[in-house]
Amino acid sequence: MMLALQMFRSLPRHVAARAVGGRMPGILSGPAAPLRMVTVDEPRVARPGWARLRSRLSGICGSDLGALSGRTSLYFSSLVSMPLVPGHEVVGELLEDCEDLPAGTRVVLDPILQCRARGVDLCDQCSTGATNLCDRITVGHISPGLQTGFCADTGGGWGQQLIAHRSQMYAVPDALADEQAVLVEPIACAVHTALRAKVGSGDHVLVSGAGSVGLLVVLALRELTRAGSITVVAKHGRQRELARAFGATDVVAPEEVLRGVRRTTRAFHVKPDFGSPYLLGGVDVAVDAVGSKQSLQTALHATRAGGRVVLSGMPAAADLSAVWFRELEVAGSYASSATEAALDGRPAFEVALRLADSPAIKEIGESVVSYPLHRWREAIDHAHSAGRLGTIKVAFDPNDRGPSARPRSTS
Ligand SMILES: [Zn+2]
Repeated sequence: MMLALQMFRSLPRHVAARAVGGRMPGILSGPAAPLRMVTVDEPRVARPGWARLRSRLSGICGSDLGALSGRTSLYFSSLVSMPLVPGHEVVGELLEDCEDLPAGTRVVLDPILQCRARGVDLCDQCSTGATNLCDRITVGHISPGLQTGFCADTGGGWGQQLIAHRSQMYAVPDALADEQAVLVEPIACAVHTALRAKVGSGDHVLVSGAGSVGLLVVLALRELTRAGSITVVAKHGRQRELARAFGATDVVAPEEVLRGVRRTTRAFHVKPDFGSPYLLGGVDVAVDAVGSKQSLQTALHATRAGGRVVLSGMPAAADLSAVWFRELEVAGSYASSATEAALDGRPAFEVALRLADSPAIKEIGESVVSYPLHRWREAIDHAHSAGRLGTIKVAFDPNDRGPSARPRSTS
């Protein structure tokens, strides 16, 4: 038996949480939260290619908070199976050999439960390597689930053990501390976003939001593109510092975005009689790194005609007038691919593992805050207020090993 945090479907609670989740942070972790700590059987391996892992550290992501607060669209309701153990940002340790990886190997997971993991013939997407777009995430020998942490059979990182398929695993170099390794999955998503942004040489870029997604996107843009100016919208002091450290040229508060972008790009400012102001002209590429109505609206309203807007956070509804009138290209960016065309077919995780060893990520890694499972209410509240509190990532330490038990980089 093992300890795990378990999310269970409960529509009345889901609706109640949805009504108040955004306004009252404490409610995410209060009696209405669809999460509980349970003692359950460890997930069992039934097929070759799968192995058991001990979860060493597992991050709390914005999409997890969205699910807990009922803000996630019902679109996803058939793509998960309940009850589930959340946790798709996972650093684990193999409890048994898995093909070429011996027991004891530390791994990070590409959480997508694609055709290879499901033991089905490869779909069109998987056969071209676009594993993040797999069409078979509801079929095969495991229950529906778009990712580890959303599937009833695999467990997730918020439990003491989980199972994963060899195709999901990337071995972690010894030099990476667990606190750096837990950032590899979000970095891989940021790498994918930077590639989806299709930034041209010298392009003006806006990143709307400076939580972990926004900051990592800035890092990835500087690593993988030849962006000119990068303007970052940040609310909190620590976010502003890190955005600059990661390569932002301008950092602006949410209410100053249009003024800041207008200055950089010499756009015209328009204020409608009703509704939010916008620019004629603006950045070449904007990334919404939050997914709130406000951040998406900012991205749409600060982008030049014919420009590109990339949705990196799970998006909320916004006024799409600018998409039509300014002929914007709106592109999604979901997870990351095992064969990124723009990386000559290499996985985004390969670049992410390298970036995780950079000085910038080492610094963030040192400020990762981890909680044992029994303190989940505090952990969720902390994650919900992370930006305000200057925390970049909150994670669970399901086996309660404490920071001193984890190997640290010696360099
Ligand atoms: Zn597939």
